[in-house]
Amino acid sequence: MKSIQSMDIQAFQGVWVFCEQRDGAQMPTNFELMSEGRKLADELGVELCGLLLGENVEDVARELGGYGADRVFVCQSPLLEQYTTDAYTKVICDIVLEKKPEIVLFGATHIGRDLGPRCAARLQTGLTADCTHLDVDTAKYVEFLRSTSTLDVDNMKFNTNDRDLKMTRPAFGGHLMATIICPRFRPQMSTVRPGVMKKSPFDQAKADTCSVEICPVSLDPQDIKTRILEVVKEAKAIIDLTGAEIIVSVGYGISRDVKQGLALAGELAQALGGVVGASRAAVDAGWVTGDHQVGQTGKTVRPKLYIALGISGAIQHKAGMQDSECIIAVNQNSAAPIFELADYGICGDLFQVVPLMAEAAKQLV
Ligand code: FAD
Repeated sequence: MKSIQSMDIQAFQGVWVFCEQRDGAQMPTNFELMSEGRKLADELGVELCGLLLGENVEDVARELGGYGADRVFVCQSPLLEQYTTDAYTKVICDIVLEKKPEIVLFGATHIGRDLGPRCAARLQTGLTADCTHLDVDTAKYVEFLRSTSTLDVDNMKFNTNDRDLKMTRPAFGGHLMATIICPRFRPQMSTVRPGVMKKSPFDQAKADTCSVEICPVSLDPQDIKTRILEVVKEAKAIIDLTGAEIIVSVGYGISRDVKQGLALAGELAQALGGVVGASRAAVDAGWVTGDHQVGQTGKTVRPKLYIALGISGAIQHKAGMQDSECIIAVNQNSAAPIFELADYGICGDLFQVVPLMAEAAKQLV
């Protein structure tokens, strides 16, 4: 590996997105991050590049152009066919040191959470995990603060000329948001949770002009300290909350009759063509599995319709669903915080209200 000069700020330029693929299929997070990366690259006036690792993956590279990539670097080797931390870290650090991007974004998937911090440590730079908002343009960042915080931004001093990435993430259990910068080292790195950034519409013309560059890989079997003996895929169908357009979520409010509450939520979700989500309280109680959980420590979702049944609206739950296009809340407590966020609120007993909703939904569809 080349020597690291992460403090030589001026030497670094460009925005990169690490693009994860599994068996040649791209993860949806790639397109979300590429769309967000496009905005950052435009504000900085630099190129947006994807970085794709694997074996025989060049065919899927150009698709990234459709979401904004100007160029995709493809690193291929039989040793990259299956993900290993050692191999991916080495290849990414080698190419980052050679080409010197100023920003590298990773999806906060299982792989991204493993890989991002390892690369950051090896490159002797910082990484902000689980970001929910990114800015480089200071004026836009100030506007973001004005619209989302109680800070007196007009009496605060900002450096309008800096090109630092302002990486915002929940802190202290979601009770406040922290913006973190990495002003002395490059690249600036962050992981972003799936579903947080909005995917732009696919642009075929942009995909056609995206350049794909196959990069040499220097990798030896001895570089990899772990050996994959077998890949075991979980047999049960994992619920796709992040991609769902309609989500009916249950909370602790179904506690009076859990079986009936789940059945009602399932019936309503089925009638609307949606899926069932849950609050952490419902997951912690063992009523539904963790892959249903919406919120800060669960999934971030932005469906067209989110129906919250017996969910109080704690800040950590809201963090995962507040960007839904339309929110309907059913709660028997008129002071429940979920009503502050909901577009439509129904104050009542969910065991009485949901059967009526399901009936109405069946007639609509
Ligand atoms: P409750 O707060 O108990 O609310 C139940 C609601 O149901 C009440 O509003 C009540 O009025 C209503 N209700 C009761 N009976 C009925 C009925 N018959 N009909 C209609 N309404 C009824 N939470 C998440 O959801 N997701 C997360 O990712 C998450 N991450 C967290 C991370 C951290 C670090 C911490 C500290 C907490 C996290 N939490 C998360 C937990 C969160 O703070 C709340 O405890 C949780 O969201 C509460 O779930 P709930 O709304 O289902 O339960």
